[in-house]
Amino acid sequence: MIVSGIDIVVQKSKRKTVSIFIERDGSVSARVPEKLSDEEIKEILKAKEYQIFKNLAEWTQLNENVVEREYVNGQSFLYLGRNYRLKLVEDKLKGVQFIRNTFLLNKADKHKAKELFVKFYKDKLSNKIQPIVERYKGQLGVEPNDIKVMELQNRWASCTPRGNVNFHWKCAMAPIDVLHYIVVHELAHLIHINHSSAFWNEVDKILPNYEDQVNWLKINGVGMDL
Ligand SMILES: [Zn+2]
Repeated sequence: MIVSGIDIVVQKSKRKTVSIFIERDGSVSARVPEKLSDEEIKEILKAKEYQIFKNLAEWTQLNENVVEREYVNGQSFLYLGRNYRLKLVEDKLKGVQFIRNTFLLNKADKHKAKELFVKFYKDKLSNKIQPIVERYKGQLGVEPNDIKVMELQNRWASCTPRGNVNFHWKCAMAPIDVLHYIVVHELAHLIHINHSSAFWNEVDKILPNYEDQVNWLKINGVGMDL
């Protein structure tokens, strides 16, 4: 369906609201309630035209900026949704330190910088994720068995049938709102294991603006490799 000159892939499903997503390749897709007519869908998408153009502009900008990271002075690294620069120093430091909005690393540790950055993100995320889980588990009425921060393949988070919830350490690169979304998404899987409309309704009840977070992950996921 073409809306305002943009080709939008429309998927109808048993849902109540319209969600628009920018895919990894920059194409636009919309999930819409199946009961809507093509005319109605067009009207709703047209009304969201500004949001679509804004998201597309962000996608283009960020994808131009995907860089291979090197562990040199001035290189920027994401932390809680913002970029901060790395400074190599002579001082003896324990791993990567984040002081006054700057990442500090001892020059002699440069060869193992990647490993030390992973440790930094793991430690920070472990501390941040616990209170967020506490906050939402009551709202959702779930009781996760165990929470872990680890390296996961191509996923932000995962959960097992036994109720263990795992988060990728890269979640520490995401803004706090996105982190909240990732937690709610994963905890909602303890109620619905799939991505059915019942699942999305559960997420929607707690975070009505979750589409913004989904889009952030799609747009920024590409810039997150260390
Ligand atoms: Zn999921």
